[in-house]
Amino acid sequence: MTHWWEVEPVRFECQKGCIKCCAKPGWVYFDKEDVEKAASFLDLRPGYFKKKFQLTPVDPMHWEMGVTENEPCPFLGQEGCKIHPVKPKQCRAFPFWEENLRTRDSWNKVSEDCPGIGEGPGLSAKLVQQNKDSIWP
Ligand code: SF4
Ligand code: SF4
Repeated sequence: MTHWWEVEPVRFECQKGCIKCCAKPGWVYFDKEDVEKAASFLDLRPGYFKKKFQLTPVDPMHWEMGVTENEPCPFLGQEGCKIHPVKPKQCRAFPFWEENLRTRDSWNKVSEDCPGIGEGPGLSAKLVQQNKDSIWP
């Protein structure tokens, strides 16, 4: 099956100073590597990192952290993500999530909240695929 983003141009460039996707309520997912990298970045042990930031196990290798309007992501600071160099793959791959890329309409819908969509150079289908595939599951 050919995906729409293989035949239509996809442009995206994250906008400096924007934190809209981080400020939205939802779930932040971490795999084992994400936990280890973020914990190390903060000079914490992985077990303590999971406890401190209330990561809930999904399965033995994955965890989730709920964020709401009242309780936003604990890593979101005034200048953006405080663990930016090691942020989870899910965050790194946004907006190239499976559900966002499903149809042109779903992509257009995401663009209403993501000012980076439609900006910057056109991206190759290979790059879109790589981003999409970088996230668990
Ligand atoms: S909403 Fe879009 S432009 Fe804004 S920070 Fe997130 S990915 Fe970047
Ligand atoms: S971990 Fe960083 S990039 Fe991910 S939602 Fe939190 S602040 Fe945003």
